Amino acid sequence: MTIELVPTIHPDHRELVESVYAAVDGVVAACPRELYVQRSREGTHAPELWDALVAADLLAIGIPEEQGGAGGGLTGTTAVMESLSRAGIPPLQYSLTTFSREAILRHGNESQVKEHVLATISGHRRFCLGVTEPEAGTNSFAARTTARRTESGGYRINGQKVYISAADESDHILLLARTAPPGEKVGRRSGFGLFAVDMSLPGIELRKLDIQWHAPEYQFEVFFDDVEVPAEALIGEEGLGFDNILSCLNQERVTIAAWALGLGEYALAKAVEYAKVRAPFGKPIGANQGVQHPLALAKAEMEAARQVMYSAAAEYDSGRDAGAKANMAKLLGSRAALNAVDAAIQTHGGSAFVYETDVVTLWPMIRVLQIAPINNESVLNFIGERVLGLPRS
Ligand SMILES: Cc1cc2nc3c(=O)[nH]c(=O)nc-3n(C[C@H](O)[C@H](O)[C@H](O)COP(=O)(O)OP(=O)(O)OC[C@H]3O[C@@H](n4cnc5c(N)ncnc54)[C@H](O)[C@@H]3O)c2cc1C
Repeated sequence: MTIELVPTIHPDHRELVESVYAAVDGVVAACPRELYVQRSREGTHAPELWDALVAADLLAIGIPEEQGGAGGGLTGTTAVMESLSRAGIPPLQYSLTTFSREAILRHGNESQVKEHVLATISGHRRFCLGVTEPEAGTNSFAARTTARRTESGGYRINGQKVYISAADESDHILLLARTAPPGEKVGRRSGFGLFAVDMSLPGIELRKLDIQWHAPEYQFEVFFDDVEVPAEALIGEEGLGFDNILSCLNQERVTIAAWALGLGEYALAKAVEYAKVRAPFGKPIGANQGVQHPLALAKAEMEAARQVMYSAAAEYDSGRDAGAKANMAKLLGSRAALNAVDAAIQTHGGSAFVYETDVVTLWPMIRVLQIAPINNESVLNFIGERVLGLPRS
């Protein structure tokens, strides 16, 4: 007999989370892990994943009911992310779109919410996120992409972003760009703008990067050469772009924890199945504690991280400052999941490296989640400085 662990969830959202877990079955049927990996190997997309998410109405979750969505808050979005990842199909475009629309919900005006956020429910609007630049990774203040006011009242964008996921499948990019004149000091509350830019505008060019991970979404360099955008592309106040993006990072931290933990559970389930049947000495390898303990430890660590994750989501949904728990969830979730994938590789022995076994294929993505969208050192910096009150490095 095995014990099913149920996470502690905000009571207001329990019913919704349970309905999400059920709704996800249809998505998994439309886009099983085998298809996801096969498309990645071919270098093609898996439109079935996005289409099934839309068909199951899962894009409506996370948008408040009074604004036309299904409610459910970050808890609901986390449940979508966790359950799809647990089935081996983490939806990257979903993650990017829900993050971008969070920024628009918080800082956009009514018509921007209607145009960009509500259009995501029907699947007609998909966002990618343009923050990282060749010279501005962890330190986004060093971003050089500029958005200059034009005489017509709009903005002209010039610069380059890098590692932009799903840029080829997105109709808009949520872009962080410098609005400050050259030489002027920029900071959290000055010098940046956040823009919802139509990817079909003239002057935008994509160059695909050869990123070694296994997902049917790809990364690109995105070049902006005198791209003219209307004034309505600006989300929130000019100058506050950086601050506006920071205000959504707790949402991102929690959904990344869900992504990692889901994938870790997927790897663990595969390892457990294999450990029950592989018997090179006549009894299943899972009977050996040397094999069993790393799997048991991974389960315990992931469950602990999961509790912090749902607790962070509940704090966020209650309007409290979720910074400490959201950062801890990302840190603990990504590390616990990495340990789970590593234990799954060890359990599978040589067969982990056979492509069809689909075990080592999990490793690059889980490794990337220690670095992107935020590296765990920066998360530790947050906990050290903001939770423990230690001096800034
Ligand atoms: C598959 C993939 C998808 C991505 N998708 C997107 C996307 O859609 N949009 C987007 O904008 N970006 C995206 N990124 C970029 C990602 O967010 C950056 O790679 C990440 O922010 C780190 O920046 P960097 O690579 O420039 O590393 P750097 O900033 O050069 O840092 C390198 C390393 O130094 C260490 N380090 C850096 N700063 C500190 C510090 N303050 N304290 C301690 N250690 C530190 C860390 O170990 C870090 O890994 C993606 C990246 C990958 C690999």
